[in-house]
Amino acid sequence: MTRIDPIPTNLSPDFLLRSLGITEPRDIDVEAIAYYVGVRIKRRCLKCCEAMITGRGNKGIISVVPGGMPQRERFSIAHELGHWAFHRGVTVACRSTDIGKFSKTNQVERAADQYAADLLMPWPLFKAECREHRRLDLKALKAVSAAFNTSQTATLIRMIDSDVYPTGIMICHGIGGRKWHQSARGIPGYWFPKADLHSESFAFDLLHNPDSRDEGFPRKIDADAWFDNWAAGQYQITEQSFRVPGEGVITILNLDPKMVR
Ligand SMILES: [Zn+2]
Repeated sequence: MTRIDPIPTNLSPDFLLRSLGITEPRDIDVEAIAYYVGVRIKRRCLKCCEAMITGRGNKGIISVVPGGMPQRERFSIAHELGHWAFHRGVTVACRSTDIGKFSKTNQVERAADQYAADLLMPWPLFKAECREHRRLDLKALKAVSAAFNTSQTATLIRMIDSDVYPTGIMICHGIGGRKWHQSARGIPGYWFPKADLHSESFAFDLLHNPDSRDEGFPRKIDADAWFDNWAAGQYQITEQSFRVPGEGVITILNLDPKMVR
């Protein structure tokens, strides 16, 4: 096909979505957006990375490893478009540990992740969807990630960052303990979750027992199960944990509103 329109030079997610007249989450077709900016997608085996972008001038090629979850693949493509927008001229090869982790130390990867989130889950549409779900729980997460066709991890990070759930924290644990966590903006830093899961917690069982299933509904628990803070014993919070293949177990906490004031 011969391209007639000039390739847009402004690659900001907001500009691209407006240029393409996208007003619904289901219309965010990341391959069509890539094509629009002169980038083709190739699915091929890559030696030591999950996705990469090469190219020069206005033509690029994103290579992605085939056979992954569709939501993961969409995020990887959007992440590579982020490199195209910010780091063009550099060949970037991204390992699975570089994509979707919102690295606090690697600014290049973090910028690409932020771009991907802004493209796939633009704030106005995303916040509108979040407001349909009063409480932050697994049911809401499943609904929002289905609406945007994004992974549960990427969607939950965005929900925590949305300011719609001011008492929300997500914590990811692996076999070795806490891997990372994300708190809503207004939560004071002294509500910093413990490194280790309590051996009687639901999350611990989920992590170590392959037969256990995701927690069906949020449960009340004393805050000192999750925090060492001197004041934790005064409060009750809710917890709900679910398994994420390849990642571990993620727990959604909702703090008592009084903890956030
Ligand atoms: Zn990358």
